[in-house]
Amino acid sequence: MASGKLLRQLIHSGAQGDPDTFRGVAEQVIAEERQKQHHILANDLERILYGNARIPNSPAIRKLAAMVPEDRERGTPLLSLREPMSRLEDIVLSPENLSLIEGIIQEHNRIEVLRAHGLRPSDRLLLFGPPGCGKTLTAEIIASELGRPFAVVRVDSIVSSFLGETAANIRKLFDFAESSPLVMLFDEFDALGKDREDSLEHGELRRVVNNLLQMLEDYNGRSIIIAATNHDGLLDGAVWRRFEEVLLLQPPTKPQLVKLLKLKLRGVRHNFDPADFVACDCFSGASHADVERVARRAVKEMVLEAGSMTLEVRHLEIACQREEARRRRVTKG
Ligand code: ADP
Repeated sequence: MASGKLLRQLIHSGAQGDPDTFRGVAEQVIAEERQKQHHILANDLERILYGNARIPNSPAIRKLAAMVPEDRERGTPLLSLREPMSRLEDIVLSPENLSLIEGIIQEHNRIEVLRAHGLRPSDRLLLFGPPGCGKTLTAEIIASELGRPFAVVRVDSIVSSFLGETAANIRKLFDFAESSPLVMLFDEFDALGKDREDSLEHGELRRVVNNLLQMLEDYNGRSIIIAATNHDGLLDGAVWRRFEEVLLLQPPTKPQLVKLLKLKLRGVRHNFDPADFVACDCFSGASHADVERVARRAVKEMVLEAGSMTLEVRHLEIACQREEARRRRVTKG
Protein backbone atom coordinates (compact mmCIF):
# COMPACT_ATOMS: atom_id res chain seq x y z
CA MET A 1 0.00 0.00 0.00
CA ALA A 2 1.13 3.55 -0.68
CA SER A 3 2.50 5.48 2.29
CA GLY A 4 0.11 7.39 4.54
CA LYS A 5 1.68 10.68 3.53
CA LEU A 6 1.04 10.08 -0.15
CA LEU A 7 -2.52 8.89 0.46
CA ARG A 8 -3.25 12.02 2.50
CA GLN A 9 -1.87 14.24 -0.29
CA LEU A 10 -3.78 12.29 -2.90
CA ILE A 11 -7.14 12.62 -1.17
CA HIS A 12 -6.48 16.24 -0.24
CA SER A 13 -5.69 17.27 -3.82
CA GLY A 14 -8.70 15.28 -5.11
CA ALA A 15 -11.03 16.90 -2.57
CA GLN A 16 -9.63 20.37 -3.43
CA GLY A 17 -10.20 19.78 -7.12
CA ASP A 18 -6.52 20.32 -7.93
CA PRO A 19 -5.95 18.02 -10.95
CA ASP A 20 -2.25 18.83 -11.45
CA THR A 21 -1.25 17.99 -7.86
CA PHE A 22 -3.55 14.97 -7.88
CA ARG A 23 -1.85 13.68 -10.99
CA GLY A 24 1.64 14.30 -9.61
CA VAL A 25 0.87 12.48 -6.35
CA ALA A 26 -0.89 9.63 -8.17
CA GLU A 27 2.26 9.20 -10.27
CA GLN A 28 4.31 8.95 -7.07
CA VAL A 29 1.94 6.30 -5.72
CA ILE A 30 2.33 4.31 -8.93
CA ALA A 31 6.14 4.62 -8.80
CA GLU A 32 6.09 3.45 -5.19
CA GLU A 33 3.96 0.41 -5.99
CA ARG A 34 6.21 -0.43 -8.90
CA GLN A 35 9.27 -0.21 -6.69
CA LYS A 36 7.64 -2.70 -4.37
CA GLN A 37 7.29 -5.02 -7.38
CA HIS A 38 3.47 -4.64 -7.38
CA HIS A 39 3.42 -4.42 -11.14
CA ILE A 40 -0.10 -5.51 -11.82
CA LEU A 41 -1.47 -2.94 -9.37
CA ALA A 42 0.87 -0.26 -10.78
CA ASN A 43 -0.25 -1.03 -14.34
CA ASP A 44 -3.90 -0.91 -13.32
CA LEU A 45 -3.42 2.41 -11.57
CA GLU A 46 -1.64 3.77 -14.61
CA ARG A 47 -4.51 2.72 -16.85
CA ILE A 48 -7.00 4.39 -14.49
CA LEU A 49 -4.92 7.58 -14.30
CA TYR A 50 -4.02 8.01 -17.93
CA GLY A 51 -6.83 6.08 -19.56
CA ASN A 52 -5.91 6.29 -23.18
CA ALA A 53 -2.45 7.88 -23.21
CA ARG A 54 -3.34 9.44 -26.53
CA ILE A 55 -5.91 11.66 -24.86
CA PRO A 56 -4.29 14.95 -24.01
CA ASN A 57 -4.35 15.67 -20.28
CA SER A 58 -2.06 18.55 -19.43
CA PRO A 59 -3.49 22.08 -19.47
CA ALA A 60 -0.98 23.13 -22.17
CA ILE A 61 -2.11 20.34 -24.44
CA ARG A 62 -5.78 20.89 -23.72
CA LYS A 63 -5.33 24.53 -24.73
CA LEU A 64 -3.58 23.56 -27.96
CA ALA A 65 -6.21 20.92 -28.73
CA ALA A 66 -8.72 23.68 -29.36
CA MET A 67 -6.49 25.03 -32.14
CA VAL A 68 -5.79 21.82 -34.04
CA PRO A 69 -6.18 22.53 -37.77
CA GLU A 70 -8.72 20.55 -39.79
CA ASP A 71 -9.18 19.48 -43.36
CA ARG A 72 -11.76 21.89 -44.75
CA GLU A 73 -13.51 19.37 -46.98
CA ARG A 74 -13.78 16.52 -44.49
CA GLY A 75 -13.73 18.42 -41.21
CA THR A 76 -11.18 15.93 -39.82
CA PRO A 77 -8.21 16.94 -37.62
CA LEU A 78 -4.89 17.03 -39.44
CA LEU A 79 -2.92 15.86 -36.41
CA SER A 80 -3.36 14.20 -33.06
CA LEU A 81 -1.91 15.75 -29.93
CA ARG A 82 -0.29 13.41 -27.45
CA GLU A 83 1.10 13.69 -23.99
CA PRO A 84 4.69 12.48 -24.45
CA MET A 85 5.43 9.92 -21.75
CA SER A 86 8.64 8.10 -22.68
CA ARG A 87 12.05 9.37 -21.63
CA LEU A 88 15.59 8.82 -22.87
CA GLU A 89 16.03 5.88 -20.48
CA ASP A 90 13.14 4.13 -22.27
CA ILE A 91 14.95 3.74 -25.58
CA VAL A 92 17.88 1.67 -26.79
CA LEU A 93 19.88 3.48 -29.45
CA SER A 94 23.26 3.15 -31.11
CA PRO A 95 25.86 5.32 -29.36
CA GLU A 96 25.98 7.54 -32.44
CA ASN A 97 22.20 8.11 -32.53
CA LEU A 98 22.06 8.63 -28.78
CA SER A 99 24.69 11.33 -28.89
CA LEU A 100 22.96 13.00 -31.85
CA ILE A 101 19.63 13.06 -30.04
CA GLU A 102 21.17 14.27 -26.79
CA GLY A 103 22.89 16.98 -28.80
CA ILE A 104 19.62 18.12 -30.36
CA ILE A 105 17.91 18.19 -26.95
CA GLN A 106 20.79 20.20 -25.55
CA GLU A 107 20.64 22.69 -28.41
CA HIS A 108 16.99 23.38 -27.62
CA ASN A 109 17.56 23.50 -23.88
CA ARG A 110 20.30 26.05 -24.40
CA ILE A 111 18.69 27.97 -27.20
CA GLU A 112 19.52 31.33 -25.61
CA VAL A 113 23.24 30.58 -25.72
CA LEU A 114 22.98 29.67 -29.39
CA ARG A 115 20.91 32.77 -30.14
CA ALA A 116 23.43 34.97 -28.39
CA HIS A 117 25.90 33.79 -31.03
CA GLY A 118 23.47 34.22 -33.88
CA LEU A 119 22.87 30.47 -34.17
CA ARG A 120 19.71 28.34 -34.34
CA PRO A 121 19.13 24.85 -32.95
CA SER A 122 18.52 22.00 -35.40
CA ASP A 123 14.80 21.89 -35.93
CA ARG A 124 14.28 19.68 -38.98
CA LEU A 125 15.07 15.98 -38.58
CA LEU A 126 14.49 13.02 -40.80
CA LEU A 127 14.28 9.57 -39.20
CA PHE A 128 14.34 6.52 -41.41
CA GLY A 129 14.67 2.76 -41.11
CA PRO A 130 12.51 -0.36 -40.86
CA PRO A 131 9.27 -0.35 -38.85
CA GLY A 132 9.37 -0.92 -35.09
CA CYS A 133 12.89 0.43 -34.54
CA GLY A 134 11.95 3.58 -32.68
CA LYS A 135 11.22 6.43 -35.09
CA THR A 136 7.98 7.44 -33.37
CA LEU A 137 9.47 6.72 -29.96
CA THR A 138 12.49 8.95 -30.70
CA ALA A 139 10.24 11.83 -31.70
CA GLU A 140 8.12 11.34 -28.56
CA ILE A 141 11.22 11.29 -26.38
CA ILE A 142 12.55 14.52 -27.86
CA ALA A 143 9.17 16.08 -27.00
CA SER A 144 9.10 14.72 -23.46
CA GLU A 145 12.70 15.63 -22.71
CA LEU A 146 11.97 19.18 -23.82
CA GLY A 147 8.61 19.23 -21.99
CA ARG A 148 6.73 19.98 -25.19
CA PRO A 149 3.48 18.67 -26.61
CA PHE A 150 3.85 15.93 -29.21
CA ALA A 151 1.82 16.28 -32.39
CA VAL A 152 1.55 13.40 -34.82
CA VAL A 153 0.47 14.26 -38.33
CA ARG A 154 -1.42 11.58 -40.17
CA VAL A 155 -0.13 12.05 -43.66
CA ASP A 156 -3.14 10.31 -45.17
CA SER A 157 -5.39 12.89 -43.55
CA ILE A 158 -3.49 15.73 -45.25
CA VAL A 159 -3.61 14.38 -48.75
CA SER A 160 -6.97 15.48 -50.04
CA SER A 161 -8.48 14.35 -53.30
CA PHE A 162 -8.53 18.06 -54.02
CA LEU A 163 -4.91 18.86 -54.57
CA GLY A 164 -5.34 22.56 -53.79
CA GLU A 165 -6.64 21.47 -50.43
CA THR A 166 -3.53 19.35 -49.76
CA ALA A 167 -1.34 22.42 -50.14
CA ALA A 168 -3.66 24.37 -47.82
CA ASN A 169 -3.45 21.57 -45.24
CA ILE A 170 0.34 21.64 -45.29
CA ARG A 171 0.26 25.41 -44.82
CA LYS A 172 -2.09 25.03 -41.83
CA LEU A 173 0.24 22.50 -40.22
CA PHE A 174 3.26 24.74 -40.57
CA ASP A 175 1.26 27.67 -39.18
CA PHE A 176 0.31 25.51 -36.21
CA ALA A 177 3.94 24.50 -35.69
CA GLU A 178 4.99 28.14 -35.79
CA SER A 179 2.32 29.23 -33.34
CA SER A 180 3.68 27.39 -30.30
CA PRO A 181 6.73 25.27 -29.45
CA LEU A 182 6.00 21.59 -29.91
CA VAL A 183 7.43 18.54 -31.62
CA MET A 184 5.59 17.71 -34.81
CA LEU A 185 6.05 14.30 -36.38
CA PHE A 186 5.08 13.70 -40.01
CA ASP A 187 4.69 9.94 -39.93
CA GLU A 188 4.97 7.98 -43.20
CA PHE A 189 6.45 11.08 -44.71
CA ASP A 190 7.16 9.30 -47.98
CA ALA A 191 3.46 9.60 -48.81
CA LEU A 192 4.01 13.35 -49.12
CA GLY A 193 7.59 13.65 -50.17
CA LYS A 194 7.23 11.02 -52.91
CA ASP A 195 9.76 11.11 -55.69
CA ARG A 196 8.40 13.58 -58.14
CA GLU A 197 9.16 11.33 -61.08
CA ASP A 198 6.78 8.72 -59.57
CA SER A 199 3.79 10.90 -59.87
CA LEU A 200 1.12 10.39 -62.46
CA GLU A 201 -0.58 13.68 -61.76
CA HIS A 202 2.71 15.33 -62.50
CA GLY A 203 1.90 19.01 -62.55
CA GLU A 204 -0.41 19.36 -59.56
CA LEU A 205 1.40 16.95 -57.24
CA ARG A 206 4.75 18.42 -58.14
CA ARG A 207 3.44 21.80 -57.15
CA VAL A 208 2.37 20.44 -53.75
CA VAL A 209 5.70 18.73 -53.12
CA ASN A 210 7.63 21.84 -54.16
CA ASN A 211 5.44 23.84 -51.86
CA LEU A 212 6.21 21.47 -48.98
CA LEU A 213 9.93 21.62 -49.67
CA GLN A 214 9.80 25.39 -49.74
CA MET A 215 7.97 25.49 -46.42
CA LEU A 216 10.56 23.20 -44.89
CA GLU A 217 13.29 25.40 -46.27
CA ASP A 218 11.71 28.62 -44.98
CA TYR A 219 10.62 27.15 -41.67
CA ASN A 220 11.67 29.42 -38.87
CA GLY A 221 9.29 28.56 -36.04
CA ARG A 222 9.87 27.42 -32.48
CA SER A 223 8.78 23.82 -33.05
CA ILE A 224 10.86 20.85 -34.10
CA ILE A 225 9.68 19.24 -37.31
CA ILE A 226 10.43 15.52 -37.58
CA ALA A 227 9.69 13.39 -40.60
CA ALA A 228 9.73 9.60 -40.39
CA THR A 229 9.70 7.03 -43.14
CA ASN A 230 10.15 3.28 -43.55
CA HIS A 231 10.77 3.82 -47.26
CA ASP A 232 13.68 6.18 -47.62
CA GLY A 233 14.19 4.96 -51.19
CA LEU A 234 10.94 6.68 -52.15
CA LEU A 235 12.18 10.09 -51.09
CA ASP A 236 13.26 12.64 -53.59
CA GLY A 237 16.88 13.78 -53.26
CA ALA A 238 15.63 17.34 -52.74
CA VAL A 239 13.74 16.22 -49.63
CA TRP A 240 16.88 14.92 -47.91
CA ARG A 241 18.61 18.24 -48.34
CA ARG A 242 15.88 20.05 -46.40
CA PHE A 243 16.71 18.18 -43.17
CA GLU A 244 19.59 19.26 -41.00
CA GLU A 245 19.89 15.94 -39.22
CA VAL A 246 19.21 12.54 -40.71
CA LEU A 247 19.08 9.47 -38.47
CA LEU A 248 18.97 5.84 -39.51
CA LEU A 249 17.26 3.64 -36.89
CA GLN A 250 18.06 0.00 -37.42
CA PRO A 251 17.17 -3.29 -35.70
CA PRO A 252 19.17 -3.88 -32.51
CA THR A 253 22.68 -5.30 -32.58
CA LYS A 254 23.53 -8.09 -30.09
CA PRO A 255 24.71 -5.71 -27.33
CA GLN A 256 21.67 -3.50 -27.93
CA LEU A 257 19.45 -6.58 -27.74
CA VAL A 258 20.76 -7.34 -24.26
CA LYS A 259 20.01 -3.78 -23.16
CA LEU A 260 16.60 -3.92 -24.79
CA LEU A 261 15.59 -7.17 -23.11
CA LYS A 262 16.73 -5.79 -19.77
CA LEU A 263 14.74 -2.65 -20.43
CA LYS A 264 11.60 -4.50 -21.43
CA LEU A 265 11.88 -6.71 -18.34
CA ARG A 266 12.54 -3.73 -16.12
CA GLY A 267 10.48 -4.07 -12.96
CA VAL A 268 9.70 -7.73 -13.64
CA ARG A 269 11.39 -10.11 -11.22
CA HIS A 270 13.29 -12.72 -13.24
CA ASN A 271 15.68 -15.51 -12.34
CA PHE A 272 17.89 -15.55 -15.46
CA ASP A 273 20.31 -13.28 -17.24
CA PRO A 274 18.69 -11.76 -20.37
CA ALA A 275 22.15 -11.80 -22.00
CA ASP A 276 21.85 -15.61 -22.24
CA PHE A 277 18.87 -15.19 -24.51
CA VAL A 278 20.08 -12.94 -27.27
CA ALA A 279 21.28 -15.79 -29.46
CA CYS A 280 17.74 -17.16 -29.59
CA ASP A 281 16.48 -17.62 -33.19
CA CYS A 282 13.39 -15.57 -32.58
CA PHE A 283 15.51 -12.46 -32.11
CA SER A 284 17.47 -12.76 -35.30
CA GLY A 285 16.58 -9.77 -37.47
CA ALA A 286 13.91 -8.75 -34.97
CA SER A 287 12.96 -5.12 -34.57
CA HIS A 288 12.76 -3.52 -31.14
CA ALA A 289 8.98 -3.75 -31.32
CA ASP A 290 9.25 -7.53 -32.03
CA VAL A 291 11.48 -8.00 -28.98
CA GLU A 292 9.04 -6.02 -26.88
CA ARG A 293 6.21 -8.27 -28.07
CA VAL A 294 8.14 -11.40 -27.00
CA ALA A 295 8.90 -9.92 -23.58
CA ARG A 296 5.27 -8.91 -23.09
CA ARG A 297 4.07 -12.39 -24.07
CA ALA A 298 6.50 -13.98 -21.62
CA VAL A 299 5.21 -11.76 -18.81
CA LYS A 300 1.61 -12.64 -19.72
CA GLU A 301 2.53 -16.31 -19.63
CA MET A 302 3.92 -15.81 -16.12
CA VAL A 303 0.94 -13.82 -14.87
CA LEU A 304 -1.63 -16.25 -16.24
CA GLU A 305 0.17 -19.21 -14.76
CA ALA A 306 -0.86 -17.90 -11.32
CA GLY A 307 1.11 -18.53 -8.19
CA SER A 308 4.47 -17.39 -9.52
CA MET A 309 5.47 -13.76 -9.92
CA THR A 310 8.98 -14.58 -11.09
CA LEU A 311 9.69 -14.74 -14.77
CA GLU A 312 11.50 -17.92 -15.69
CA VAL A 313 13.39 -19.09 -18.75
CA ARG A 314 10.49 -21.34 -19.78
CA HIS A 315 8.12 -18.33 -20.03
CA LEU A 316 10.52 -16.66 -22.43
CA GLU A 317 10.94 -19.91 -24.37
CA ILE A 318 7.19 -20.25 -24.87
CA ALA A 319 7.02 -16.63 -26.01
CA CYS A 320 9.91 -17.22 -28.43
CA GLN A 321 8.21 -20.26 -29.92
CA ARG A 322 5.06 -18.25 -30.48
CA GLU A 323 7.07 -15.46 -32.07
CA GLU A 324 8.74 -17.88 -34.48
CA ALA A 325 5.36 -19.38 -35.41
CA ARG A 326 4.05 -15.88 -35.97
CA ARG A 327 6.98 -15.05 -38.17
CA ARG A 328 6.36 -18.16 -40.31
CA ARG A 329 2.72 -17.17 -40.75
CA VAL A 330 3.61 -13.57 -41.62
CA THR A 331 6.21 -14.58 -44.21
CA LYS A 332 3.78 -17.06 -45.78
CA GLY A 333 0.93 -14.59 -45.84
P1 ADP B 1 8.63 3.01 -35.75
O1 ADP B 1 8.06 4.38 -35.62
O2 ADP B 1 10.09 3.00 -36.12
O3 ADP B 1 7.82 2.10 -36.64
P2 ADP B 1 7.97 2.82 -32.97
O4 ADP B 1 8.77 3.92 -32.40
O5 ADP B 1 6.50 3.09 -33.20
O6 ADP B 1 8.60 2.30 -34.32
O7 ADP B 1 8.13 1.54 -32.05
C1 ADP B 1 7.02 0.77 -31.58
C2 ADP B 1 7.29 0.36 -30.14
O8 ADP B 1 8.42 -0.53 -30.08
C3 ADP B 1 7.69 1.53 -29.25
O9 ADP B 1 6.56 2.15 -28.70
C4 ADP B 1 8.55 0.88 -28.20
O10 ADP B 1 7.77 0.31 -27.19
C5 ADP B 1 9.26 -0.23 -28.98
N1 ADP B 1 10.55 0.26 -29.50
C6 ADP B 1 10.81 0.57 -30.78
N2 ADP B 1 12.08 0.97 -30.91
C7 ADP B 1 12.64 0.93 -29.69
C8 ADP B 1 13.95 1.23 -29.19
N3 ADP B 1 14.92 1.64 -30.00
N4 ADP B 1 14.18 1.08 -27.85
C9 ADP B 1 13.19 0.64 -27.03
N5 ADP B 1 11.94 0.33 -27.46
C10 ADP B 1 11.66 0.46 -28.76
